[in-house]
Amino acid sequence: MPGGTPGTPSSKVKEKSMIRPKVVVALYPFKAVEGGDLSLEKGAEYEVLDDSQDHWWKVKDEQGSIGYIPSNYVKEKELLGLQKYEWYVGDMSRQRAESLLKQEDKEGCFVVRNSSTKGLYTLSLYTKVPHPHVKHYHIKQNSRGEFFLSEKHCCGSIPDLVNYHRHNSGGLASRLKTSPCDRPVPATAGLSHDKWEIDPQELMLLEELGSGQFGVVRRGKWRGSIDVAVKMMKEGTMSEDDFIEEAKVMTKLQHQNLVQLYGVCSKHRPIYIVTEYMRHGSLLNYLRRHEATLGVNVGMLLDMCIQICKGMAYLERHNYIHRDLAARNCLVGSENVVKVADFGLARYVLDDQYTSSGGTKFPIKWAPPEVLNYTRFSSKSDVWAYGVLMWEVFTCGKMPYGRLKNAEVVERVQRGIILERPKACFKEVYEVMRKCWSHSPEDRPSFRSLKEQLLNVSEGLLAD
Ligand code: ADP
Repeated sequence: MPGGTPGTPSSKVKEKSMIRPKVVVALYPFKAVEGGDLSLEKGAEYEVLDDSQDHWWKVKDEQGSIGYIPSNYVKEKELLGLQKYEWYVGDMSRQRAESLLKQEDKEGCFVVRNSSTKGLYTLSLYTKVPHPHVKHYHIKQNSRGEFFLSEKHCCGSIPDLVNYHRHNSGGLASRLKTSPCDRPVPATAGLSHDKWEIDPQELMLLEELGSGQFGVVRRGKWRGSIDVAVKMMKEGTMSEDDFIEEAKVMTKLQHQNLVQLYGVCSKHRPIYIVTEYMRHGSLLNYLRRHEATLGVNVGMLLDMCIQICKGMAYLERHNYIHRDLAARNCLVGSENVVKVADFGLARYVLDDQYTSSGGTKFPIKWAPPEVLNYTRFSSKSDVWAYGVLMWEVFTCGKMPYGRLKNAEVVERVQRGIILERPKACFKEVYEVMRKCWSHSPEDRPSFRSLKEQLLNVSEGLLAD
């Protein structure tokens, strides 16, 4: 029809221009190394062109360059809130805030974090007077909605309040001076957009980090800049083709308490599994090495359990079963971050001694009755193992059931005899462990509910 309905094309354009583009701000810098990716400058704004995939979004920068960026490095401008400030650390627990500030060791160093009570904020402040310690202050609100630390000095917003106390201690142990800089940037889901096959030529292999079931693990650098851990799989230890298929799915699992799988080198033998590097190594050794300091810091032990529980709740939400959860399969990074590693890997092990419940390498001491009897794995069998892992944490890495032989452990578990309460463990925490060891899987709580229970216990024990 010649001409069409007057006004239609222009109203369409109008309609289109009315859909406001999504604008995000970079929380961390990102260096594009692969063609098609785009570098991020911390604090700069980007227009989102395609956010149909979870982890890598296509964006346009202010100069008009287009490319993919990791979606966990940016935040929508309108939802940014406090996140644009260096001093805001979000969900960091009281214990981790303390260890971070103590590590910096600077008078007046501070962070603002979400309080254990939802919706409230806490200021954590380091002072050396009269001795080095961290003070925690609830940021309160008056009836007019103004924020304050001491009622005499109210401000319209938290950033204004922080600015005020930069100049006036106003009752605090010190003026607010600096906040910890160079906080670690999170891992990306894969090293680049749609990349899970890694070219071994781009990996520089460094020192050995340890060795385990599958072979040697070495520290490495990808393209000379990104720290990685490289697991070199001993030939014949796993069904490789199945695993390589699965790795594509696993790179897409992303959570701050899961060790990120970056990808695999599968074109040559031995195959390499490339993951995020965790500087303090396995949780089991970390607990044993730091028993003297950790053993008296129940809050930190509980915080480690909560972190693992968060990672496991993510796996549970994605219907992913770990099958070998234990302290030896968790890793510790900077700022006392704990992450779960090796999830799902057990399915690809070829060694009968490891896979069959009668085998010498089978993790009997972490297995519930239905796994011992019928090899029936589920998120609820992970919950049982999680209870044992909590016990390992609260004993700073003791061997569950001491020197009892596997057969004796099986007999005990079948008869409903459970591990004793560790000395460092409060009654409330032991109650949570006991729920994980309910004989029938249906009676065990989910990780989601465990997380809530532990957060409640933590709030009760350590009210800010
Ligand atoms: P396997 O799965 O073959 O049994 P592990 O995963 O237990 O091997 O790794 C063996 C050791 O290597 C660990 O105990 C730990 O000390 C070290 N390691 C493994 N992965 C990492 C990592 N991502 N970062 C740092 N150290 C690691």
